[in-house]
Amino acid sequence: MTKLLISTAFAAFAVSAAAAPTGAPAVPPRPIAGIPTQLPRTARPLAYRIEIAPDAKALRFSGKAQIGVQVLAATRSLTLNAADLQIASATLQGPAPQNATVATDAAAQTATFTFARPIAPGNYRLDIAYSGKINQQASGLFALDYQGASGPKRALYTQFEAPDARRMFPSWDEPQFRTPYDLSVVVPAGQTAIGNMPERGRQKRPDGTMLVTFATTPPMPSYLLFMAVGEFDRITKMASSGTEVGVVTKAGDGEKGRLALDAEAEILPYYNDYFGQRFPLPKLDNVAGPGSSQFFGAMENWGAIFSFESILLVDPAITTEATRQRIYGVEAHEMAHQWFGDLVTMAWWNDLWLNEGFASWMSTKATDHFHPEWQVLLSRLDGREQAIGLDAVRTTHPIVQNIATVDEISQAFDAITYQKGEAVITMLENYVGPDAWRAGVRDYMATYRFGNTVTDDLWTKVERAAGKPITAIAHDFTLQPGVPLIRVAAAACRGGSTPVTLTQGEFSRDNPGKSALTWRVPVVAGTAGGVDTRSLVSGGQASVSVPGCGALIVNKGQSGYYRTLYTPALLDRIKGSYASLAPADQIGLLGDNWGLGLAGYQSASVALDLLDRMPAQANSQLVDRAASILRSAHDLYEGDPAGQARVARYASAKLSPMLARLGMDARAGEASNDAVLRSELITTLGDLGDPAVTADARRRFAALRTDPNALNGPLRTTILGIVASSADAATWDQLHAQALAEKVPLVRGQLYRLLASTRDEALARRALALALTDEPGATTSSAMIGVVAYEHPDLAFDFALANRVKVAGLVDASSSSRFFPGLASGSSTPAMVAKLQDYATRYMTPQSRRPADIAIGRINDRLRVRKTAGPVIAQWFEAHKG
Ligand SMILES: [Zn+2]
Repeated sequence: MTKLLISTAFAAFAVSAAAAPTGAPAVPPRPIAGIPTQLPRTARPLAYRIEIAPDAKALRFSGKAQIGVQVLAATRSLTLNAADLQIASATLQGPAPQNATVATDAAAQTATFTFARPIAPGNYRLDIAYSGKINQQASGLFALDYQGASGPKRALYTQFEAPDARRMFPSWDEPQFRTPYDLSVVVPAGQTAIGNMPERGRQKRPDGTMLVTFATTPPMPSYLLFMAVGEFDRITKMASSGTEVGVVTKAGDGEKGRLALDAEAEILPYYNDYFGQRFPLPKLDNVAGPGSSQFFGAMENWGAIFSFESILLVDPAITTEATRQRIYGVEAHEMAHQWFGDLVTMAWWNDLWLNEGFASWMSTKATDHFHPEWQVLLSRLDGREQAIGLDAVRTTHPIVQNIATVDEISQAFDAITYQKGEAVITMLENYVGPDAWRAGVRDYMATYRFGNTVTDDLWTKVERAAGKPITAIAHDFTLQPGVPLIRVAAAACRGGSTPVTLTQGEFSRDNPGKSALTWRVPVVAGTAGGVDTRSLVSGGQASVSVPGCGALIVNKGQSGYYRTLYTPALLDRIKGSYASLAPADQIGLLGDNWGLGLAGYQSASVALDLLDRMPAQANSQLVDRAASILRSAHDLYEGDPAGQARVARYASAKLSPMLARLGMDARAGEASNDAVLRSELITTLGDLGDPAVTADARRRFAALRTDPNALNGPLRTTILGIVASSADAATWDQLHAQALAEKVPLVRGQLYRLLASTRDEALARRALALALTDEPGATTSSAMIGVVAYEHPDLAFDFALANRVKVAGLVDASSSSRFFPGLASGSSTPAMVAKLQDYATRYMTPQSRRPADIAIGRINDRLRVRKTAGPVIAQWFEAHKG
């Protein structure tokens, strides 16, 4: 490859030779059988040198690419990915340079360069001059607009997963092609640029702009390349391991990134140690962008994470305690990707879960390490419920799945990939033990660093480290879909232990009669207060002798990915001990039994009996689970005020004493989780129309008339949420005026979403109309439509469909196939099923219609639950009206 013609080396960052793997060649791909490629394999990229000149105002850019290419078999043409790019010229440099004729294929997202004479195998350089579009949604090179202190501003960022690098440069845009990148960008005076690597040089140009060039990246896939250009602050810190970490914000906001910066500095050395590999880049930034996406919140670009402000910056006026915890967790997730995903990358999107399941699991682990008081390990149970929600229905798919189209790549970012992935890793780590698991991960990292893998590469390493077969178990949970069901039967306690029979079936929400798949299921069982026993249910059944005679808990500690169904006698024992069980078991039992009740495996009253035994001092995440059950019971009686009133009365009686104990206002020095719980209780009670909480929220809101800052603080969002959802027209207008006057994008975006959260249908219509104007901002509009859909799914879907082209333009490319069906999925009307069928037939291909089928399944499930479990639940609340 030719060297860059850059004038001065820029010493803005200390780059130690040891830390900078610059100049490393492309890694020849390890031959992995069965990895699809959408591009011909006659050639592969060796290195990219890309120069981008954005015209931010015109939302266009011009680009020059010089791509080192190795031709592997004689050919007359080269096909690369390109989307929405206009190619002006292309020349293949070599012993005898030749110009190409170019044909683009919009549907396949490719450009084919054809040459007059055949190209012999060997190394060449493909020079391409082209231009493209700056998007206003987060894909490819995109713009985010906001009000700065001195007027309207526009900053540029990139988002290339998945797969949108092809929107900024012609490329072999598939994860198995790892190459170094030399990226340069033209930066207007007064602005700065951020890339994966530190700046290597800059060249002043005659028009006053600056050509900024970043140091060469290590070999990496195209989807991890990043750049941002704008008026930025950058705050930095040196991690104890010697890597500089930074947070980049709009000018003036630097200090809002302090929490994330401290998290970065804390987590980086921990990961260096856990993975056994030092972070290989000279710096790690997290770049904050104002706005939002329907597809993602943050992205793990190597050395330059991108996050939307709402999950990166702390604004004391609005940031809740839960958001503070979330900022830490997101930071830990994106940083875990710097190893799992970036240093070692899945060979193809089939194994996306290797990235996402692992980063989710690692984030929870790291967060728990530094903040045990947040009890985030318990949040995995919430993740398990989300995964089961998607996995126990006909539309599910295995964790490792066949991916062929761009739509399928985007759709793979779901709760199966993230939360089931995390749940399965949790179970397997528990099965082999944390030390063996980590040893396997370290071996995997050491072997495949700067390379690509498939899922079995991980199992092989962990199996070797553990000296225990896990591949077969792992295959059961990753190569086949669905949720195991363990039925528990027990004989009377004898000689101090309980004989237990475990029978494996399958939990299904929409097809309970189906013949069950078989899994090898690692099971931990124990009696209340007794010693745990471990077994592997294999071949459908296992008999175990569990020490102790107390209440029997299967899946004790709740690390297993399955549902547990007890006999009524065993459930009676559990109810008797429920209040004193460990929080994980309390939460897991509540989730399992509610799910089993709604699916018809047992009475829905079992879970409510457990909920009723939840102690007043319950763990905050148990309260969270109970609150979500109460809200879903309330939703069940939509259109039945008496039914809703029964649930609301019970919820007030159960939850208000907890809120009274915490108080309505933050207390100095209180536990972080108490602050989170307070918000959760206020929100739930407010949602269910609790008179005291609603009146209090309105009283606080009234203070805004005289003091616009009266509500500022961690409860502002919570209080405004209650006021906005129950707003009358005058209150809504007041909120709207606030939104119009607000300058801070983070606060402003939140106010527009609040306007959309109204329960009043006429106001919801006004929110929808407002979403289609320029007022909320390009990336807030689709969020507003999505929020309207929580309360008014039919209205939101009909509106979006009536304005289909315009609404589609408000959603980023990766979300388009999910956005419309997602709006309808909360509906309870049979007519919506037909509308969705029609939508799928008209606008979706057979490969891309899964989101519509999921939404249809949810609606049918809701209609079924109302009919089957509804009466039992109504009876239960009638009997518990106190
Ligand atoms: Zn991720």
